[in-house]
Amino acid sequence: MAKAIDMHVHLPTPGFLDGAIKLYAAAAERFFRNSVPRREMDEVARLYEELDITGVLLAWDAETATGLPRLSNDEVADIVKAYPGRFIGFASVDPWKGEWAIKEMERAIIELGLSGAKFHPGLQAFYPNDTKFYPLYEKICALGVPALFHTGTNALGAGEPGGMGVKMDYTRPIYLDIVAADFPELTIIGAHPAWPWHEEMLAIIGHKSNVFMDLSGWSPKYIPRAIMDEARTRLQDRILFGSDYPFITPQRWLADFDALEGFSSEVRQKILHDNAARILKLGEPS
Ligand SMILES: [Zn+2]
Repeated sequence: MAKAIDMHVHLPTPGFLDGAIKLYAAAAERFFRNSVPRREMDEVARLYEELDITGVLLAWDAETATGLPRLSNDEVADIVKAYPGRFIGFASVDPWKGEWAIKEMERAIIELGLSGAKFHPGLQAFYPNDTKFYPLYEKICALGVPALFHTGTNALGAGEPGGMGVKMDYTRPIYLDIVAADFPELTIIGAHPAWPWHEEMLAIIGHKSNVFMDLSGWSPKYIPRAIMDEARTRLQDRILFGSDYPFITPQRWLADFDALEGFSSEVRQKILHDNAARILKLGEPS
């Protein structure tokens, strides 16, 4: 059993950074004044092995809204298979692809062995609570896997005129509250601290037991205090470690988390590992 589960790992490969999110990644790198080195997955697997972390790799399909090529579910599944026990894969389908998206989600989970669904309402340009997409959620419920949705502001497109067309309203957490109410059997993970709507997100997590948050994309040192106060106490079973690699490295995230005071070792264990293991049904016969 790995020491920690990183719920939010992007591929640092040219196929993702210079393909699927091309122009947006360049803007994000300028915004953070931080260039992201391109790496092969061999190197990433070695890093996660050294750190004793299981990484959740995210596919990407925002073809309709961005016109950029997808990072396919097959590619993610191949990597998961190439490094047994090191990675878990989440499928991505472009919700605008209708019937195909539903079939592809089923194929990704059943045939490719992926373990969840990842959506980016900002880059995929859709309202999560639009009932047009409910048949897709029904399929995800039937497959019994969690769905991860980007929440809060977007690094992609940040600092550019018009944010490169990315609309932040899509990534407000309140729309997930509606989905969570309509699909109580669906496990929903809000990716990132949902800033500037983190209090809205905390209210949703407090109200609906099928909703969780991953802390990726922010160093723990800068995550709003309201979130960390809840993570230590009332919502300690619902908050998950995620790095947002390669934009933030897991070593940096973990070191900054270690340095925070007030977390018992029991709560740390839940955030770093146990909450994710429960959602992902690790250790349970499949
Ligand atoms: Zn991300």
